[in-house]
Amino acid sequence: MKILVVGTGYVGLVSGACFAEMGHHVICLDIDHEKIMLLKQGKIPIFEPGLKELVERNVQAERLLFSTDYKSSVEASDVCFIAVSTPSQPDGSADLSYVFQAANQIAEEMNGSKVIVNKSTVPVGTCKEVEKLIKLKLQQRGKRYAFHVVSNPEFLKEGDAINDCMKPDRIIIGTKSTRAAELMQELYSPFNLSHDRILIMDPASAELTKYAANAMLATRISFMNEMAGLCELVGADITKIRKGIGSDKRIGYSFLYAGVGYGGSCFPKDIQALRATAKKEEYKTPLLDAIEEVNQRQKNVLNTKILDYFSSELEGKTFAIWGLSFKPGTDDLREAPALNLIRFLLENGALVRLFDPVAMTKAKALFKKSPQIQWCKNEAMAATGADAICLMTEWKQFRFIDFSEILPLMRGRAFFDGRNQYHPAEMGAKGFDYFSIGQPVVLGAKASVEIASVS
Ligand code: NAD
Repeated sequence: MKILVVGTGYVGLVSGACFAEMGHHVICLDIDHEKIMLLKQGKIPIFEPGLKELVERNVQAERLLFSTDYKSSVEASDVCFIAVSTPSQPDGSADLSYVFQAANQIAEEMNGSKVIVNKSTVPVGTCKEVEKLIKLKLQQRGKRYAFHVVSNPEFLKEGDAINDCMKPDRIIIGTKSTRAAELMQELYSPFNLSHDRILIMDPASAELTKYAANAMLATRISFMNEMAGLCELVGADITKIRKGIGSDKRIGYSFLYAGVGYGGSCFPKDIQALRATAKKEEYKTPLLDAIEEVNQRQKNVLNTKILDYFSSELEGKTFAIWGLSFKPGTDDLREAPALNLIRFLLENGALVRLFDPVAMTKAKALFKKSPQIQWCKNEAMAATGADAICLMTEWKQFRFIDFSEILPLMRGRAFFDGRNQYHPAEMGAKGFDYFSIGQPVVLGAKASVEIASVS
């Protein structure tokens, strides 16, 4: 099948490459000329494990092309996916201007019957809006081509996107047309061999399923963060609570990690967009409101611990920041909790020494040159001369650090672990004053390890 994917970002590029890997002929189109130029030169504009090899293989096999030209791309395709960004507007609702722009340009160039598939995360009713828009454009052009608009939300997660795309838990297809459903089933048939993963439903349910899934995952994170705060006050340990509740099959262990709050390009904006949809319907969503409120509080939880430890004197103090991306496995910095902490430290006159295994280039573009910021080649360099280390992204390479080499490099001995990567007692025994999320504080500086409760 001949496929066009409009929008060559995290979703568009990964899905385009995966469709090509399954034997389809794919054109990935973007209005960002620089991005397409890089891709044509064999360079991948984002970090995603395995993506470079996948793209290379399919470009060589001539199943994957890149373009900025709507006319030739639309004309060459049977199915046009829309995978453009849907950022938040100031009121929290999804900005659909990129989706409508893409749909308009597809309609402008349609030369026959097509299926238009919306993969972007969009509020209920967007399928209908896109359908109206295409109908109108075709009328204006005096054309009467048959077309269907289908909702097909994407569930991949950055860092493991290829695996998610190749072996999805489910493939949701929202359409009321039997013809369009059959075509989508055929298109996805290579992904559906081991067992049936396809769920066909009406477009509104498909559109809402995507938001409901992200809201559910964010709920689990905020729930654990709320429990973590309580643990700190009553002297309990959130990692033990996780095991205690996760072992219940009805609950399970996934997404039950306390930390510095969720970030990324999806959860924050999708929760806001879902709340905005409910508000438009004059429907109260106290649970959704609380998920976000807890997350906002959680994003500042390390700031408070840092202020307490340094008696609010941060001017001239040096902080090593380990990890910048919003999660491991990606260079995506959108809504990354590390950015929030860095801005807080800079505002308070502190110096920051930053290191991330893959997100340094993107991070450098976000901060102005400043004598307060030092970009470091590795975690040891970041720790050199630091009063404290703050671990913000749980990259695997931070798991097995030889701390006996790190501590002597530092000026101080504080360790703020925003991802609960280490065992408090062990960090104390290594000489750190160790603060984490919902676990006991250990002051390693004291001769005997002291377990204290956090303020
Ligand atoms: P992205 O910002 O990485 O990429 C979007 C791309 O669309 C950009 O390259 C941009 O230049 C391009 N674009 C914008 N308008 C265009 C137009 N009119 N024509 C052609 N190209 C255009 O975004 P993303 O992270 O890939 O997300 C895309 C959508 O998928 C969003 O709705 C997002 O919520 C959803 N989604 C994202 C993820 C994820 O993990 N990133 C997962 C599931 C769903």
